[in-house]
Amino acid sequence: MMRICRFWAAVFVGLVILCAPLMAAQVKPDQVIVIEGQCDARDARDDMRRMHILPFDVPEGVTRIEIKKELNYGAGGSGTVDHGLADPRGAGFGMPGFRGWMGGSKADIWLTGDPVTTSQYFLAGPIQPGRWNLLQWTVKLPDAGLKYKYTIRLSFNGPKPPERMPEVPKCDQGIINPKAGWYIGDVHAHTLHSDGSKTLSQLAKQHEDAGFDFFASTDHNTNLTHFDFADAAREHPKELMLFGEEVTHPLMHANVIGCKPGTFFDMRIDPAEHHLPQVIAQAHKSGAIFSVNHPFNWGAKDWRISPEEWKDADAVEVWNGGWSDPNQKTLEHWDAMLQKGRRLVALCGSDTHGGAVTKSPAAHVYAENLSRDAIIDALRKGHVFLSENSRGPELYLSIRGESALPGDTIEWKAGTPVPVEVRIVHGAGMTLRLIWPGGEENVSVDKDLTAVRRDVALDWTRSANYVRVELIKADGKMGALTNPIYVGQTAL
Ligand SMILES: [Zn+2]
Ligand SMILES: [Zn+2]
Repeated sequence: MMRICRFWAAVFVGLVILCAPLMAAQVKPDQVIVIEGQCDARDARDDMRRMHILPFDVPEGVTRIEIKKELNYGAGGSGTVDHGLADPRGAGFGMPGFRGWMGGSKADIWLTGDPVTTSQYFLAGPIQPGRWNLLQWTVKLPDAGLKYKYTIRLSFNGPKPPERMPEVPKCDQGIINPKAGWYIGDVHAHTLHSDGSKTLSQLAKQHEDAGFDFFASTDHNTNLTHFDFADAAREHPKELMLFGEEVTHPLMHANVIGCKPGTFFDMRIDPAEHHLPQVIAQAHKSGAIFSVNHPFNWGAKDWRISPEEWKDADAVEVWNGGWSDPNQKTLEHWDAMLQKGRRLVALCGSDTHGGAVTKSPAAHVYAENLSRDAIIDALRKGHVFLSENSRGPELYLSIRGESALPGDTIEWKAGTPVPVEVRIVHGAGMTLRLIWPGGEENVSVDKDLTAVRRDVALDWTRSANYVRVELIKADGKMGALTNPIYVGQTAL
């Protein structure tokens, strides 16, 4: 009896020894890392908005990263802190290890190899061993500053993440409409991958239903949305979608419109480091245009980053959402820049975060066809007028005898009046403003007036000349406006 017990005991011990690695692997405890610290209120001042990089080390075999955030702004205080994550491929400028950005969302962070169990702001994929970085950006802090505590839980259990980073699914929408003509678009929209409430597919439907032929997805500081394009295009094949990002820094917002799929543009455009020109160059290399967005939307006293930093920008968003005082101010600044010879394409955008776009401003773009390449080319050239919404009003500016569109340059004999023609659709009850450097003429538009012709006498002593048109509604708000036709002078 004794011998049998010993035998079974030995078998049991043997089994435990044999199974030990397996059992240990199944129950390997989570590893917990705590990062604590505090930020001074001055950290959120304009000239000190540097991103804090909080490193933590991830060992081999991790299947899930969870980061719980505790942000304490002091009694009754409130603030905004943005967060992001970079893997061991790097968190330096350009951020090769970019894994996601969640803006000021208060949610915790989950990252695994599977999108279903990963936060909507982060890219599921490999969890490489090595140094990861939690990115912390103190955008707004109360006088008491911020005390923070991040509890990072690394799990070794559950499904093993893939070895390789996921690729953006191929999405070539080709030429959706081969006809040359005016197409209606919105170049500024957000999904739930930043602070919007809709998926890309829902945005596509919303724009399609509201009469937009195309729109650009421009989520704040992330390229995560690009992974959704193929599915959205399958569901809405007639709605052209442009890849983009809204580069969002506390000192400036700017849209990259029409970049290569999967391209990430770093938001850390620190003026002291002259990062902005690098981001603009990257946008151009990626085939995109770069537009400075809504520069006066925060009640700022002036453009907040020196124009020298963005001298290579292509466009400025003069019309963000419904017409407003900040839009008016931007329009006046834009015109002042045109007078100095700085050519920037005027654009508009709904900046929808999920709200309806039926009343949002619309960019009417003359393109060779409805395709990504043709639309970007037309936007870059400024073959664009803007209207209150996708239903109009419409303003077609031309020079008699010339084929020039807004954005183009004509050469004209100095001293000779320029024969301007404007065709107006749905403009009854509004006032047409014909504008050129140093002059303007207003014309009341009644229901029978569908075209205006004027010989405009430009001031030929000016270094920059152009003609552009606005349509002002009875309540003083903007109905439509065109980009300028620029006028160069030939020798006398
Ligand atoms: Zn913005
Ligand atoms: Zn925006």
